[in-house]
Amino acid sequence: MDADVAVVGVGTMGSMATWQLAKAGISVIAFEQFGIGNDRTAAGGESRLFRTAYMEGKEYVPLLFEAKNLWRQLEAETNRELLTLNGGLTIGDPDTDVMKSLLKSIYEFELDHEILQGKEATERFPQHRLFSEDIMVLDKNAGFLRPELAVVSAVERAESLGANIKRYTTVQGVHPDKDGVTIIANDKEYHVGKVLITTGAWTGELLPRLRDHLIARRLVLTWFAPKNVEKFKPDKFPIFARMRKGYRLTGAPTLDGTMVKASNTKDPEAVLEPGNLNRDVSSEELQEVGDAVEKLLPGLEPNPVRASVYMDAYTEDDHSILGKLPGMDNTFLISGFSGHGFKMSPVIGKIAVDLITKGETKHSIGHLNPYRYAKA
Ligand SMILES: Cc1cc2nc3c(=O)[nH]c(=O)nc-3n(C[C@H](O)[C@H](O)[C@H](O)COP(=O)(O)OP(=O)(O)OC[C@H]3O[C@@H](n4cnc5c(N)ncnc54)[C@H](O)[C@@H]3O)c2cc1C
Repeated sequence: MDADVAVVGVGTMGSMATWQLAKAGISVIAFEQFGIGNDRTAAGGESRLFRTAYMEGKEYVPLLFEAKNLWRQLEAETNRELLTLNGGLTIGDPDTDVMKSLLKSIYEFELDHEILQGKEATERFPQHRLFSEDIMVLDKNAGFLRPELAVVSAVERAESLGANIKRYTTVQGVHPDKDGVTIIANDKEYHVGKVLITTGAWTGELLPRLRDHLIARRLVLTWFAPKNVEKFKPDKFPIFARMRKGYRLTGAPTLDGTMVKASNTKDPEAVLEPGNLNRDVSSEELQEVGDAVEKLLPGLEPNPVRASVYMDAYTEDDHSILGKLPGMDNTFLISGFSGHGFKMSPVIGKIAVDLITKGETKHSIGHLNPYRYAKA
């Protein structure tokens, strides 16, 4: 046996699961096709938004508070700042389904928040131009994460606890049986007790039977130059999400003191071959997001000054798949975070350890159950 557990893919979920496995004293070997914290996975692009008022479903709120505790643990264990809570604004028409869902999560869990409208909203946050029907919901437990550093930190900590990380090692096959799992990576065989697959947008390549349920999608991140950078620093400019017909504009304050991130992540296109992701950004894409920025954030110059392209795996219902795979012995999967998984990754890693070691978890994760795709 090379280890009790193998982790395939050391990006977001794989790094957090490897850290949690090593912390639980389990021997773990983890395989990553690229380097750790590289910019080609779903964990690139300088920042990820952390929110607890959750339009994607109130069932995530307890997971997000547990994730917040675990981010603080990882920071303490690695002596790094990974999560900055500078608040988060969600702006939109309160009669839309997403805003109703967000408010439901706030009221049910009595989340610390403020609701601002009209003059009061624009005086407090003049960076945003509002439509007459818009409200601003300020989530006090929101902010931004440092994704590349978070992955590097989790792996560094896992290694210090004994995890064996195989960098630049591509897993070509996973063959489970009743006694364990054989992994083929860079043409070499490894034998482990159980395997956790965390291959993100590449999952359909490794598990073709899930290809129809886990679609790789292309997301373009863009940055803009502020007219007055002071107004876009973290203490003045919370992270934000704005939904309107045709776009979903999300962004973060300036982190380098020169650029502000504002990206349109509405309806990302499918990627047929994750290995051949189109990293070029077309003029149309740049103009589209520039138009949205011009309308909504008048303090930014409307031509993007930086753009970069990433992928995530999406499911049909935008909830991930987390658990033991039906019909495959000793095989667990975490994938399909549909553009919103980074913030919760440490708790997802912890839940994976519960499922692998005990077959159950105290967390409520029915909405992520792989059996909803069992017919496949
Ligand atoms: C542009 C963008 C913006 C986002 N914004 C947010 C946000 O603001 N807030 C938020 O919470 N979430 C956000 N998300 C979503 C979040 O980042 C993802 O849901 C999450 O990072 C997915 O993690 P993952 O582990 O599934 O995939 P990844 O982090 O991509 O990890 C998969 C890993 O598996 C490796 N791998 C694949 N195949 C193999 C193989 N055969 N052998 C070895 N290694 C392999 C890959 O190289 C990669 O390292 C965003 C996503 C994107 C793309």
